[in-house]
Amino acid sequence: MNDATSSTLDTNASVTTVPVHAQRRVSYEFDTKATRADLAIPYVVIVNGKVRGPDKPRRLSRENRKIAVTVEAGSKVALYLNSDVHPNHRRNPVYEVTVNDKNVSVKITEKTGNDDPDPPTLKPVPATLSLSPDTEFYTAKLTGNVWMTISHKYTEAEANALLPANTDPVVRKAVCSIYRGLGVGKLDIPLCVENGVLHVSFINQGNPQANISRCSLLNDVLPRTHPWAFMALFDMARHTQLSQLHITSCWRPSLGSIAHRAGLGIDIDVVATSNKRININRVGLTVPNTSDNPNITTHEKELLAACTNARLQEKLHRDKETREAAKANCDSWENEVEKNEPQLIRSIRRKLQALEVVEQILDPWYIELNTKDSKSQKTNAQSSDNERIHKDHLHITIKDAKIYD
Ligand SMILES: [Zn+2]
Repeated sequence: MNDATSSTLDTNASVTTVPVHAQRRVSYEFDTKATRADLAIPYVVIVNGKVRGPDKPRRLSRENRKIAVTVEAGSKVALYLNSDVHPNHRRNPVYEVTVNDKNVSVKITEKTGNDDPDPPTLKPVPATLSLSPDTEFYTAKLTGNVWMTISHKYTEAEANALLPANTDPVVRKAVCSIYRGLGVGKLDIPLCVENGVLHVSFINQGNPQANISRCSLLNDVLPRTHPWAFMALFDMARHTQLSQLHITSCWRPSLGSIAHRAGLGIDIDVVATSNKRININRVGLTVPNTSDNPNITTHEKELLAACTNARLQEKLHRDKETREAAKANCDSWENEVEKNEPQLIRSIRRKLQALEVVEQILDPWYIELNTKDSKSQKTNAQSSDNERIHKDHLHITIKDAKIYD
């Protein structure tokens, strides 16, 4: 019996043969090693124009880089990826394939550079003896241009609707102006104090332009960034009376975790009030010798070196004495960091922590992976990749569960 027919018993218990639809397996396999092998891309699968339930974004995991579905022969299958998984954003299905009399296997490989304007089309792989005869094989690319396609570009009306009802009208007006389209990479926002003004600078960061054939900071990058990211920063800046704020990275296609690619990450590297300017930078913390960075004292470097060495001893010996010595050394360094952290940075972090939409705060002083859990923030020793990346800016991740839960 082939899979187009099936035997069943009718009410009179005589055997008849009726057709049922043949089932085919479709799989998409992602290779994102070009930028990050374990990139957690959000996805939903569309079969014949409808999202396959349950309608909740899933995401690729470190272990499983495949999306697989079983469908009826003749079906059309495609994907919504990245911020397009949000129910309100589903306009650009990608990697569509029509399933015929064979299973389908699609291998999608990420590619960097801005010289490949290919749309997300599938290219058939010619049949060879080594390939399974009951499967059609395709390849496709995941370029910066495809990232731009699968990253939702918010309109001013969408931004306005997304901002909570209790958003400060000054913040609302400033956020909406970004999605209306700025003429230059600067924005002035009135402060709460009389005549006070916050000057916001949007700095071109290079990654979008290096990986997309045509990409503008004002028309492509800023409006692909979630409105809550700007809302959080402007709210914080007005609360802490900032007069200057440098925003260095918003949405970007081909670098780092999914946060920036999904428009949920935003970075700042300079803040100033009317009497103090701070470069958010602790570069040189782990380099021996005298510190010339105003945010690091030579004494602190010595304490960190002692802490690092004591932790190493703890790993080697694993006894009570070295464990206690490690704790004492590292407590001394952490106390020194806490004592010297600029008051303005602490106020900024406290304000951001209190905002409902802010999930993570990663900066040169502290790493907080979840502002809403009971775990305390970790002092940044610049020992892990994540700590080292955040030695020269403050990053926040916005939580929008309809994109990334
Ligand atoms: Zn960032």
